[in-house]
Amino acid sequence: IDLSQAEAVADVIAAATARAHELALSQLSGELSRAVDALADRLTDAVAEVEARVDFAEDVGGIEVPAHVVAAIAALEGELAALLGTTTWARAVREGVRVPLVGRPNVGKSSLFNALLGEARAIVTDVPGTTRDRVSEAIELAGIRVTLSDTAGLRETDDAVESIGVARTHEALAGAALALWVVDATLPLADEDRRVAKRLAGRRVLVALNKCDLPIATRAEDVAALLEGTAGPIVAVSATTGDGLESLRAALAGLLGAGDPVDGMGVAVGNLRHAEAIGRARAALARATRAAADLLPGEIVALELREALAALGEITGRSVDDDLLDRIFRKFCVGK
Ligand code: GDP
Repeated sequence: IDLSQAEAVADVIAAATARAHELALSQLSGELSRAVDALADRLTDAVAEVEARVDFAEDVGGIEVPAHVVAAIAALEGELAALLGTTTWARAVREGVRVPLVGRPNVGKSSLFNALLGEARAIVTDVPGTTRDRVSEAIELAGIRVTLSDTAGLRETDDAVESIGVARTHEALAGAALALWVVDATLPLADEDRRVAKRLAGRRVLVALNKCDLPIATRAEDVAALLEGTAGPIVAVSATTGDGLESLRAALAGLLGAGDPVDGMGVAVGNLRHAEAIGRARAALARATRAAADLLPGEIVALELREALAALGEITGRSVDDDLLDRIFRKFCVGK
């Protein structure tokens, strides 16, 4: 087996959902390797053509990269881009996703957390700011392990215990690419909400407009205005009646890239190392295309193509140095 297949062994062992297991098995069986090898094969053809022209410039009439090779490079670049398009979803499947519930106190974070879990986990109370500990539980959503964490409200406070809770909220947000922001629809938006919105900048945000069983003071548009373009879906829910929870789950699955790219394409790239290598190959192809368009010497185009080839080779282990191998296999427990 090649390097990506060997890596899949660890993924099979670590898989937390049936979908993650399936994805790992497909990689173990060599689906990714075959796809990458096929791309590398076509890339090698392109390199050969370009280099042949450089070597025999006089015989073949100039060193301009022929149109069909330029088209082949563009097609390869498109296919690499499509592979990268599977990464958000496949990484979520492979690694799971952490989703902190944030929002000011008493908006219904604990209630919604419990409703999403389908059982009472966090303490629900009428006193603002009493959710002092982060409580984490995992649910499975569209084959993805989603770890929800209920956090203390994002709130400036003097209370020592609560300050710890608030600090933990910042921690929870720190590593999270995605957050579920709970807003109380029965109250007008306040400064505290604006502060929360500011902290959410740069993340994928799903908004639950909660308590929609009661008369409404805040609408989706009001919340969207606070998020200034970074807004993800905004879903009206009621943690109490359960209304809107299905839409909320669906919206979350959508944000995670659900829609199963695997079904359509056969291959998905869930390993960050692979995604980075594909990204570098793609960038090199883009530079090759530009160099060809600028009528730069064929040597330069060939150089970029070779760089792309080397990057693809890192995935299967054809071109890889010992340091990288050490890093990858340190994750395996030798002897077991
Ligand atoms: P947290 O501080 O954000 O975790 O809020 P809690 O989950 O503790 O809820 C605060 C209060 O709002 C509690 O009295 C809940 O029963 C109530 N609450 C939460 N969600 C809803 C809802 O959807 N509708 C109504 N009517 N009340 C809710």
